[in-house]
Amino acid sequence: MAAETLAQAGVKVIIYDRMPSLARKFLLAGRGGLNLTHSDPFELFTEKYGSAQGPLLPMLEAFPPSALIKWCEALGEETFVGTSGRVFPKSFKASPLLRRWLRRLESQGVEVRLRHALVGFDAHNKPIFQGPEGSPASVDADATILALGGASWPRLGSDGSWVDTLQGKGVTVAPLRAANCGFDVTWSPFMREKCAGQPLKNVALTFGRTRIRGEAMISTTGLEGSGVYALSGPIRDAIESQGFATLWFDLRPDMTQRELALRLLEAKTGQSTANVLRKAAGLTPAGAGLVREPGPLPKTADDLAKRIKGVPVQLTGVRPIARAISTAGGVTFGELDENLMVKRLPGVFAAGEMLDWEAPTGGYLLQACFATGRTAGRGALSYLGIFPE
Ligand SMILES: Cc1cc2nc3c(=O)[nH]c(=O)nc-3n(C[C@H](O)[C@H](O)[C@H](O)COP(=O)(O)OP(=O)(O)OC[C@H]3O[C@@H](n4cnc5c(N)ncnc54)[C@H](O)[C@@H]3O)c2cc1C
Repeated sequence: MAAETLAQAGVKVIIYDRMPSLARKFLLAGRGGLNLTHSDPFELFTEKYGSAQGPLLPMLEAFPPSALIKWCEALGEETFVGTSGRVFPKSFKASPLLRRWLRRLESQGVEVRLRHALVGFDAHNKPIFQGPEGSPASVDADATILALGGASWPRLGSDGSWVDTLQGKGVTVAPLRAANCGFDVTWSPFMREKCAGQPLKNVALTFGRTRIRGEAMISTTGLEGSGVYALSGPIRDAIESQGFATLWFDLRPDMTQRELALRLLEAKTGQSTANVLRKAAGLTPAGAGLVREPGPLPKTADDLAKRIKGVPVQLTGVRPIARAISTAGGVTFGELDENLMVKRLPGVFAAGEMLDWEAPTGGYLLQACFATGRTAGRGALSYLGIFPE
């Protein structure tokens, strides 16, 4: 996005990437349909960036979801709003959009150098790249924009190795941490062996004072899934500070405890507990397994209903950042000016997930990457003395 902003203004741009092809994580995001942005009202939308809302706001105002949708449609990819308000390209893929975008960049004169890793900066703050052959060499760029990503899915290219490079230049980088990630649970052998891989759909998840509707996925090591990711920031913080976090599941969120207790009472005569849980409570095998995890099932209908509507699950660890959807932490906003120029490195800008913000899944991640990319591109233009409209 930064390259496009510069190229449109007539600037010669070269994109360097350490991988043999561009935008591998963008393509991976396309496997889930490429959730580009969200149709939330703008005020609600920006709240999702939490403590980074302040610094990101002007960039999101300058390039809001409506602009991203227009940009996507101008590339020939119609978009649609899904049931949860998430916005996707109609093709539900990233590859056609990426193909057209790269073709457009090429027609704007943008060149690409693959298999070139940024390994440092020289004394004049020019980037040094290690190419496939020879020794590292600096590039005499008039301006440099870094968009090196976070540290999740490192085999796709973003491994966070830039942290040492920037810290070596005195730039403060908040530690990179997993965001939108799964958590460890010490499951019973039954859950691990019989329920791993099964979803818990249409449940409510509560952490602290936040209750959300969503779904979770049981894995052999713990819990994953969109509902868990949505609460993952505060859960991660709690585990980091106190060693564990308790997530509560309501497995029948559409029923009151009393309604559920009445159904259990009506069903009870002569049926096995497994049948009561399945037929009267309407639980899946995974839900029934979860209800049994905290200990023996309560004897009365009231207490059983209470358990089904509030199953505590103790989360004991954060899954590795390499498997997370995104990364929290990064270059702190205090190190950047309003154009996203690194104050200590005049002429060097930074954008995307490598900045210190986090947001839930729902299109908020790509939207902020696009908006910050555009801001950095415009910032570089004004640094070069070119003033875009
Ligand atoms: C499974 C998955 C699904 C996702 N789905 C969605 C979704 O539907 N919607 C959404 O909003 N977000 C989604 N995301 C998140 C989104 O893909 C990222 O937030 C976004 O790609 C980050 O963009 P970026 O340009 O900042 O970094 P990246 O996309 O990570 O790109 C950084 C680039 O920099 C290159 N690089 C890194 N270090 C160096 C170096 N030292 N030298 C040279 N090159 C380097 C990398 O090779 C890479 O090409 C998903 C993420 C994952 C993992």
